[in-house]
Amino acid sequence: MVDYDVIIAGAGTGGAITALTLAQKGHSVLVLDRKARDTIGLKTCGDALGAHHIRELKEMIGLPDLPKDIVEHPVAGMDLYAPNGKHKLTMEGETTRGYSFNRHKMGQWLVSLVEKAGAEVSASTRVKKLLLDDGKVSGVRISKEGEAEKDLTARIIVDATGATGMLRRQLPDSSPIEKTIAKEDQMVAWRDIYETPEFEFETPDILEIHWNQEQTLGGYTWVFPAGPHRVNIGLGVMMIPGYTHPRTIFDRFVKTNWEFMNTKLVTYDSSGGIAPIRRPIDTMVDDNFMLVGDSACQVNPIHGGGIGSSMLGGVHAGNVASEALEQNDTSIESLWDYNPRYMESYGIKQASLDVFRWFLLNVTNDEINFAFQKGIVKGIDLLSVSITGKMEIGTGEKFKRLVAGVGNIPLLRRVNKVSGLMEDIKDVYRDYPDSPEGLERWKARLTPIYDAAKKA
Ligand SMILES: Cc1cc2nc3c(=O)[nH]c(=O)nc-3n(C[C@H](O)[C@H](O)[C@H](O)COP(=O)(O)OP(=O)(O)OC[C@H]3O[C@@H](n4cnc5c(N)ncnc54)[C@H](O)[C@@H]3O)c2cc1C
Repeated sequence: MVDYDVIIAGAGTGGAITALTLAQKGHSVLVLDRKARDTIGLKTCGDALGAHHIRELKEMIGLPDLPKDIVEHPVAGMDLYAPNGKHKLTMEGETTRGYSFNRHKMGQWLVSLVEKAGAEVSASTRVKKLLLDDGKVSGVRISKEGEAEKDLTARIIVDATGATGMLRRQLPDSSPIEKTIAKEDQMVAWRDIYETPEFEFETPDILEIHWNQEQTLGGYTWVFPAGPHRVNIGLGVMMIPGYTHPRTIFDRFVKTNWEFMNTKLVTYDSSGGIAPIRRPIDTMVDDNFMLVGDSACQVNPIHGGGIGSSMLGGVHAGNVASEALEQNDTSIESLWDYNPRYMESYGIKQASLDVFRWFLLNVTNDEINFAFQKGIVKGIDLLSVSITGKMEIGTGEKFKRLVAGVGNIPLLRRVNKVSGLMEDIKDVYRDYPDSPEGLERWKARLTPIYDAAKKA
């Protein structure tokens, strides 16, 4: 006899949507979060989300429209700036439309939907330990403010604890799930939110991304207005050996290079955070166990957005968990289908963008300036890369652009090579194994492609 069908550790975007999906199907669900009930949703974030994510969730699980008070300002598109600040690419299209929104209110809204659907939410409750029975996951040890520690059991435990993946890290060595995430596969970020009473953002519906390999290696600076007098500004860097702490870069580079920084600023928040920026974890399930959101590395490796994909992961995880519970079989084999469903809907694109990330790490400021100046890369290309994970360079109009950029043939060759590797990785993902037996053989096919991307 177990206490719940499913216990979900973490009431963030991934955990909340997993809970909502399961509760709507009538399962008994307990969601645990260490934050107090009224602080769930408070998180260091760029606070930007594509509207298409909400539309998809509406179709999949009937998620209501975002309440108006959550949206700070609509977003129409994004300007991507070259390191020299002179050249920019504008990305505008269906998938760049969205919102600058209030993260805290979003979290509160999601948890209230979860509660209304019938799941139990226990806030101010820290999940401390993953419990095993005969080597298989069986429950969690929790500690709630003012109460003695206690053990709870469930048919399925979901780790939705975000970038810490604190239950994932406690899995036994025999688990096929990777327990740790390499530092180089993580982005560390710092960001401030300001009211700017003396400065007006002229186009608050356009988000800005500033690329600069010397300041923000493997990452970027974002300037996301949330209205004419409000902004979320921050930067992220890849955690490669010798990286500089983003707060230091913020003080040294951001504070001295943006005009509005010299005007009166009312600071709403100033904090740091970490996000995994790699392909999804190769298997996100084990016996009686699932990963969702950042703990499953369901984040876009290029722009670091993970709210939409964590919610998508939550729907797939919730659906598969429900099917497994109905079949009375929560073994790894029974939960396996979560992997291919997620890989097909988003993981394949993440894997391909992960290849692109390694290539970008080795591109210099001069090369980026050159590519922007010569029009080798256009907004539409980057938009298409970020939507589809496919980089089409080499034919028709694009080929002419390549020829126009003939001054830097080595760069063009490298771009061509990486676009081939991006296709190679997608082919491997199309062959994702349909049972756990094929996992190790499949993983072995990834390594040479990523190794080649690191050298491209
Ligand atoms: C600086 C920064 C900027 C970002 N900007 C954007 C953006 O603009 N747009 C976007 O789409 N994505 C953005 N992301 C990524 C996005 O925030 C995450 O991918 C997304 O929140 C993942 O959701 P999650 O549910 O997996 O984790 P989280 O939202 O982090 O939720 C995890 C929850 O688990 C709880 N928890 C953790 N440990 C325990 C424990 N031991 N016991 C109980 N509860 C626990 C936490 O309190 C938290 O509520 C950004 C990330 C960072 C770091």
